[in-house]
Amino acid sequence: MQWIELRACPACQEPASAKIGKLRAKYYSFGGSRRPMPRGGVALHRCVTCGLVFKAVVPAPQELTDATSDAEGSLWGGNYDYADEIACLEALDLVGADILDVGAAGGEWLAALPAGGRRSALDIVRFNRLDTAGGGEFIEGFLDSSELMWSGRPYDVITAFDIFEHLYDPSAALGNCRSMLKPSGWLVIETGDADAMRRRPGDWPYLNLFEHHIAWNRQSLAAAARAHGFEIVSFEQKAHKGPAGPQSLSWRARTALYRLLPELYVQAMNAAGARSNPPGDPASIDHFRAVLRRT
Ligand SMILES: [Zn+2]
Repeated sequence: MQWIELRACPACQEPASAKIGKLRAKYYSFGGSRRPMPRGGVALHRCVTCGLVFKAVVPAPQELTDATSDAEGSLWGGNYDYADEIACLEALDLVGADILDVGAAGGEWLAALPAGGRRSALDIVRFNRLDTAGGGEFIEGFLDSSELMWSGRPYDVITAFDIFEHLYDPSAALGNCRSMLKPSGWLVIETGDADAMRRRPGDWPYLNLFEHHIAWNRQSLAAAARAHGFEIVSFEQKAHKGPAGPQSLSWRARTALYRLLPELYVQAMNAAGARSNPPGDPASIDHFRAVLRRT
């Protein structure tokens, strides 16, 4: 396993940070297998300048690409209820616009949208079931890559749901978003809310994942947006999107445990070899949605 050590805030480059905790798990669960933690464990830091929470050690990008290729189908792209996200685009009159979805996995969100403009996807591997409709394209790579190959035809909207917690280099990611958007284009972000999570007891279940490197709050996102040619138009705290249709017994059990005993939740998930991300509990307002506009 190849690991990368961070010596400064990955969002604002401030070298000073406060250590706020350490992951207690002995391994990560990813794609049905266990992956070792780095020697010495994983410390959690909070940037003193922008407030970003970040891990001091993260897996090298190639480790994630390899692990994701191995795990297709068993990871991400769940059957979510996207009504709230569609309502957000409707309110901005953007449902029929050209949309690029980052981290599109099997294309579930793009497929949930009413038909309209180009439906394009960016991801580190192409899932077989992904459909890019309306003349859309597939862009292969990390959002924070310095060498993304794309059509050069900019978009009205970029959606990034549950993506910004994966970033290695937020500056590069926001730079890429800006260059792939039309002037005054929109960037809609949903990710974990570090401020909400700090108020919960427990072991940062959100960062106890192989592929989650950072947690944002309003302050850190506003600073990064400003530095990269965006303004925040709206910011609302919310729950993670929930599953579509009837909820399974195991989802209900996980949700109840996460709600009532978050510390035990993480321990139980680790012991079972399961992933300990929060289960999309509608009562746990531990995420946010920010709508940004290119300035
Ligand atoms: Zn910072």
